[in-house]
Amino acid sequence: MNEIFYSECAGCDTKIEPGKYLCRQCLGALPLVVETCEACGYPLEVSASCCRNCSSSKFFDYLFIPFWYKGVIKEALKNLKFRYGYREINFLKYLTNFVECRAGDYDFITPVPSHFIRKFRRFIHPADIIASNIAEKYGKKKVEILKRRKYTKYQWQLKKNMRHVNVRKAFELRKEVKGSKILLVDDIMTTGNTLNECAKLLKSNGACIVDCLVLSKGIFV
Ligand SMILES: [Zn+2]
Ligand SMILES: [Zn+2]
Repeated sequence: MNEIFYSECAGCDTKIEPGKYLCRQCLGALPLVVETCEACGYPLEVSASCCRNCSSSKFFDYLFIPFWYKGVIKEALKNLKFRYGYREINFLKYLTNFVECRAGDYDFITPVPSHFIRKFRRFIHPADIIASNIAEKYGKKKVEILKRRKYTKYQWQLKKNMRHVNVRKAFELRKEVKGSKILLVDDIMTTGNTLNECAKLLKSNGACIVDCLVLSKGIFV
C-alpha cells in the first residue's frame, strides 16, 4: 500500500511511474555482479576460473551475490542507517528479487546477527530484512540460528591483518543444525571473514550445506 505513493527514483529522485523504484537510467546503472567463481560463486572483478577463497580454507559452499557495493546499492544500504521508512525497506525488498538461490531447498534461512548494541544504535538490520524477504518469497520462515557472542568492531574499521582476529569465536549457536542445509544471509561482504567464521561454526556442528546470500560485495577490500 505504501509503495504506490512514492514516485521518485530511489537512485536520483527524478519523477517516475508510481510503483517503480528506479528510473530507466538508474536501473541500467545497477552495479550487477557479472563474473563469479565457478566453484563457489565469489564475485570476481575480472574473469577467472577460480577465486582466492577456493585456494585457501573456506567453510561455506556457495555464494549468491547479485550486486557490487557501489552506486545506488551503496546509497540504499547507507541510507538504512539513518532512515528506515517503508520506502527504504521496500527498496531493499525489491533488490532481493535480483537473487536467484532456490531458497526453498534450505532447512534454515538465517541472518548473520548484529550485536544488540549495534542493533540498538541503527534500529534496523538489513540482513534481517533480506533474510525475511527471501524466506517469505519461498514460503519459509527466517530462523535466527546464530548469536553474536561479543561486540566486534566493523570490519572496515580494522587493518586487514586484524580482521581474522576480530571475528574469531564471535558467534555461538542457538539451535541444533546437524544434517541441515543452511542459507546464511548478510547485506555487505567485505573480506568474507565473518561469513566464513559463521559457516565454520555451523559446519563444525554438523550442518551439511552452508550457502551464503549477500546483497553486495565491496570492491576495494
Ligand atoms: Zn534514477
Ligand atoms: Zn571460489
